[in-house]
Amino acid sequence: MERTYLANVQGAAVNSEINVCGWIQELRALKNIVFIVLRDNTGTVQVTLKPDNISNINEVRELERESVICVTGVIPERTKSTSNREIVASRLVILNRAEKPLPLGITDPVSADFETRLNNRFLDLRKRENALVFRIESSMLWGMRRFFHSNNFVEIHTPKIVAAATEGGADLFGVRYFEKEAYLNQSPQLYKEIMMSAGLDRVFEVGPAFRAEQHNTVRHLNEFTSVDIEMSFADHHDAMHMLENSIRAGIERTLDELGPEIASSGIKMEIPEVPFPRISYRECIAFLKTRGVDVTFGEDFSPEQLREIGSQYSGFYFITGWPSSLRAFYTMPSAEDPEISNSFDLQYNEKEITSGAQRVHDPELLTKRFLSKGLNPDDFDFYIRAFRYGMPPHAGFGLGLERLVMILCNLQNIREATLFPRDRTRIVP
Ligand code: ATP
Ligand code: MN
Repeated sequence: MERTYLANVQGAAVNSEINVCGWIQELRALKNIVFIVLRDNTGTVQVTLKPDNISNINEVRELERESVICVTGVIPERTKSTSNREIVASRLVILNRAEKPLPLGITDPVSADFETRLNNRFLDLRKRENALVFRIESSMLWGMRRFFHSNNFVEIHTPKIVAAATEGGADLFGVRYFEKEAYLNQSPQLYKEIMMSAGLDRVFEVGPAFRAEQHNTVRHLNEFTSVDIEMSFADHHDAMHMLENSIRAGIERTLDELGPEIASSGIKMEIPEVPFPRISYRECIAFLKTRGVDVTFGEDFSPEQLREIGSQYSGFYFITGWPSSLRAFYTMPSAEDPEISNSFDLQYNEKEITSGAQRVHDPELLTKRFLSKGLNPDDFDFYIRAFRYGMPPHAGFGLGLERLVMILCNLQNIREATLFPRDRTRIVP
């Protein structure tokens, strides 16, 4: 018989037989009756077992919480009008017995410490409110993917084992690659740009990015999921337009799919107005000066300074026109003001979610930029070659998916938005 999800028990016909499956959340065994609160990924329902009807009732009495069962039974007439329907079982199949004690309680009102939760994610995510974060991530990404597809983007997959560092520098994980030294990619940047020369016109990729960040912070992981786009015949304004509208589409989709559950979980999620405000780096400097903060052009903002800026410009906003000296070699300098670049960060309050820019498409300028950043152009020959035989102007961005989910769900630690976080000390599970 087909399985009925517990959320649909409410709508099922009274007195007709249904089949439900899930975990035993609670079990109360009395002499002449056994009650089970059964849970699946959609909800809970009470199952009543009368010893006369159930051949294996003595085994059932001994089951530990969180054991997995299937129950066949009917919804009795008397619960027709109540919101707490029950199922009177005619058959119970034990599929898997849970051991005791549980390393983590599912219904315990006291929440376990975070380390215990992460060490037991399989139990932690049986709590609906914890799993909701990942449902939101899924819906969000689905909405964004749909948006990209409907704007003619092609989803691509680029290598994660690479010979050259995207951004250079110390944030690299080395790997042994047969007799060569290789790295785990920090970003798909170089490969997605090559696809512009390949004429794919617009591409996006959702994939892992690896950064050997030494410090443990609440917004850095050593492996995160990067949502990247690159588009041809486009500049940073076009990329910002795609970014804000893809986020809006993702949130719309999320609220469509999960709105009531999000509301009842206490998460405040609203469809943001587009376009998002654009504030230039120079305006940020001027603003910080009015607040008595001493900051000079060419410096990156400290977390404190970003908090100050975030207290003025809340929600989603762009910081545009970053100094060229602060951005990677592939960032296009501004034609009007060569000290700054055609670049942007998307912020949410004080948090950076995305960096993007128009890219350099002239191979001569690119080579100069490599040298000025202390990088050897020879290491990037496979990349520069793609610029020598017809490379269109292009722009794009990289967005940290966990950071986005973190701000959408108002989480304090990015690890809560990561199934199995990789950080300075954690690689298991
Ligand atoms: P930050 O300054 O916050 O360390 P970044 O400027 O070094 O980030 P980018 O190279 O711009 O990072 O990467 C693009 C996006 O990827 C960032 O805006 C962020 O959302 C995400 N991201 C970067 N590094 C990490 C990380 N270590 N963990 C999680 N997300 C990250
Ligand atoms: Mn950045």
